[in-house]
Amino acid sequence: MAMQNKKVAAILDLVADYLEMDGVDFRTKAYRRAAHTVDFLTQPIEEVHKKGGLEKLPGIGKAIALKIAEILDTGSLQYLEELKKQYPVDFEVLLLVEGLGPKTIKLLYQELGVKDLDDLEKEARRGHIHRLKGMGVKSEKKILENLEFAKKSTGRRLLGEILPLSQELKERIGSLPEVEIVEIAGSIRRRKETVGDIDVLTVTSDPQKVMDYFINLDLVGGVISHGPSKSTIRLKDGMEVDLRVFKKEEYGSALVYFTGSWELNVELRKIAISRGLKLNEYGVFKGDEQLAGRTEEDVFQALGLSYIEPELRENRGEMEAALAGKLPELVEKSDIKGDLHLHTQWSDGRSSILEMAEAAQKRGYQYLAITDHAQGLPVAGGLDEIALKEQMIEIDAVNDELDNIHVLKGVELNIGPDGSLDIDNEVLEELDVVLAAIHSGVPFKEGTLTDIILDVLENEYVDILAHPSGRKLKKRPAYDINLEKVFETAKETGTILEVDGQPQRLDLNDENIRMAIKYGCHLALDTDGHHTRDLDYMELAVSTARRGWAEAHDVVNTLPLKKFLKLF
Ligand SMILES: [Zn+2]
Ligand SMILES: [Zn+2]
Repeated sequence: MAMQNKKVAAILDLVADYLEMDGVDFRTKAYRRAAHTVDFLTQPIEEVHKKGGLEKLPGIGKAIALKIAEILDTGSLQYLEELKKQYPVDFEVLLLVEGLGPKTIKLLYQELGVKDLDDLEKEARRGHIHRLKGMGVKSEKKILENLEFAKKSTGRRLLGEILPLSQELKERIGSLPEVEIVEIAGSIRRRKETVGDIDVLTVTSDPQKVMDYFINLDLVGGVISHGPSKSTIRLKDGMEVDLRVFKKEEYGSALVYFTGSWELNVELRKIAISRGLKLNEYGVFKGDEQLAGRTEEDVFQALGLSYIEPELRENRGEMEAALAGKLPELVEKSDIKGDLHLHTQWSDGRSSILEMAEAAQKRGYQYLAITDHAQGLPVAGGLDEIALKEQMIEIDAVNDELDNIHVLKGVELNIGPDGSLDIDNEVLEELDVVLAAIHSGVPFKEGTLTDIILDVLENEYVDILAHPSGRKLKKRPAYDINLEKVFETAKETGTILEVDGQPQRLDLNDENIRMAIKYGCHLALDTDGHHTRDLDYMELAVSTARRGWAEAHDVVNTLPLKKFLKLF
């Protein structure tokens, strides 16, 4: 449902980008504000529209309300198409290059005719960019570096965006009485942080009917192929979906095959061959006889392996572990007893403390920590010491009001460029959970960032280092930090490392998590939620931790409340 909100917000944001290119500050700001309002709206935007309430939304005037209505009614916006014609550049892709804003993109287009990443790379390599006004050798070098990153990001979408969509697809296909089994395979099932396409497998008594239903779904933008055993569609938002039909006795091997990863499949086939067997998407065979294929468990067993969880299937040693019977017992969503990183209306969140507590209660948690931003982040409405103390009073009141859930008092400190923290120690002492994090995208002086973080870890009041690497998927790479040193020190100081479940963060990432565990560090799986619905990001935090081989005992918020409190 919130998908329409996201789509409308993205279009308004893109309009703002184009306007910014033209330097129309006033209208740029209006569109940005409108995008933000829609993005954080608690109801589906189409409902607001139906009730004629668009103009009543904060920051949305008559003109923009009409534009939103147009997007909702037609799926696109004529005004945006006109803006695009004015600047025939691949704007969304160029914006992925860190350091390139709308104004620079305009300059590059007008002076050098740069339209896409290829043009940009060519001009940067030829040394044409540093001669432009406002650019220099350093920014040219930076563009070349960040280009590589942007190239990898194009075409793939965030897991957090695609997961709800794929689950909706699964439910709708599964609602047909003829469908016996339906499952999402591919990188989504492995919970890879970005997704290229969606693979759906099904077992059905009536393939033709299921395929006809599939290609006629209202989400479909185009049909690429339509057959009885495989169809491919393109969704309205551009993502391709394959639906494949298998027989019941093949389903398990098909699921292994289409879940991947490709690298693991290669290794599995080698094992099969070494045992005189053949493995493909239809089963494990000895000669012509199918030995296994109905379930994944059967397939792994026929190869002499214990069951490998989908999140581990990346050929990073899981096969060796499966052969040796030494696979980890991965943490599960049901192990999680609380969320330790949440924002409310006190800073830049959208829900109240009470609403967040009730949402946590609904999810069966025992506790949650309210960790609004502190004053070092004025753009996020950060709190000073006085406000934090007032907030503590409200938290006490909520705790009095609600049973079966305990609201912990916390804060998310901002680590300043000089390493300073933005709340006095006396107040920190009164809090249950203190997070510290870097938020500035501005690079610190070279070589000092790791040292700054090590100092923060040494600070006895800081419990958790939040979103430690600072990366934002498809936006910017991790900060230049020596994470091994961070993990080593965190182990010594007992500072907990966060796995932030925000779709664009997933920070620490899977590989870092695995390394942190090797160092003996503990993790906190959080959502960094700014709205009650964001508590669902726990699923992303958990699956990222599972990809990092985390077990329940590696994660502090699997502890029941009493044990958890003793930790601090
Ligand atoms: Zn933060
Ligand atoms: Zn936060």
